[in-house]
Amino acid sequence: MELIEQLATLFNESQRTVFFTGAGISTESGIADFRSPGGIWSQIKPIQFKDFLADESIRMEDWRRRFHFQKQFDEAEPNAGHKFVTNCLSYGKGIGLITQNIDGLHQRAGVPDDCIVEIHGNGTKAACLECHSPMALSQAQVLIEREGTAPKCARCDGLVKAAVVSFGQPMPQDKVLAAKELAERSDLFVVIGSSLVVQPAASIPLIAQRNGAKLVILNREATLLDAAADLIIRDPIGETLTQVQTVSASSQ
Ligand SMILES: [Zn+2]
Repeated sequence: MELIEQLATLFNESQRTVFFTGAGISTESGIADFRSPGGIWSQIKPIQFKDFLADESIRMEDWRRRFHFQKQFDEAEPNAGHKFVTNCLSYGKGIGLITQNIDGLHQRAGVPDDCIVEIHGNGTKAACLECHSPMALSQAQVLIEREGTAPKCARCDGLVKAAVVSFGQPMPQDKVLAAKELAERSDLFVVIGSSLVVQPAASIPLIAQRNGAKLVILNREATLLDAAADLIIRDPIGETLTQVQTVSASSQ
């Protein structure tokens, strides 16, 4: 209970909380962590961005995988962890959310689009790689079934791809910048369900800390930034945050 009380106190004292979420928050909704040992990328080879650009059969395989993941995302429901983050952003002192997740569960839990920075993109949408015109996944699916080829943009004939950052694809610099700016403004930076291995994930919490923010890491496994953290909790996410909410409400 002591850790819960410490975290509740940090939330109560904060005026500008920023959340950083990774796969661990969504595994409690039944979504597989595809980068973890035993995850899907240890069973099937990830598709590299350059191969998507070069090869039609690889594009078709990428779409097959996309629709497979989408089915998993559609069947999942946001959990207590997602709801805690939404509450803090809507009614508390949360100023923003940075997420590595592409499953759209934060939005389905009620986080408005302008509160969220999706540094790895969003797997529930697609867009033209040239002119960035959006295409619904359902429309991409219809086109693939009708034409038997990977969809092209109606406006410029460019390749359409799920709006996620693929392996070997450059990070969207506007998103990285927005994430860094949020980190700079925060006085409490809460990492939830990320091992902080992939860049820029590993550096963003340190930006917050350099600007005076307290750093909390709520993750099942050890992370690379544990030594820098002000508070580390390894317990299940939804359960922990539900307890924090109760303690927080009773002390106000
Ligand atoms: Zn286009």
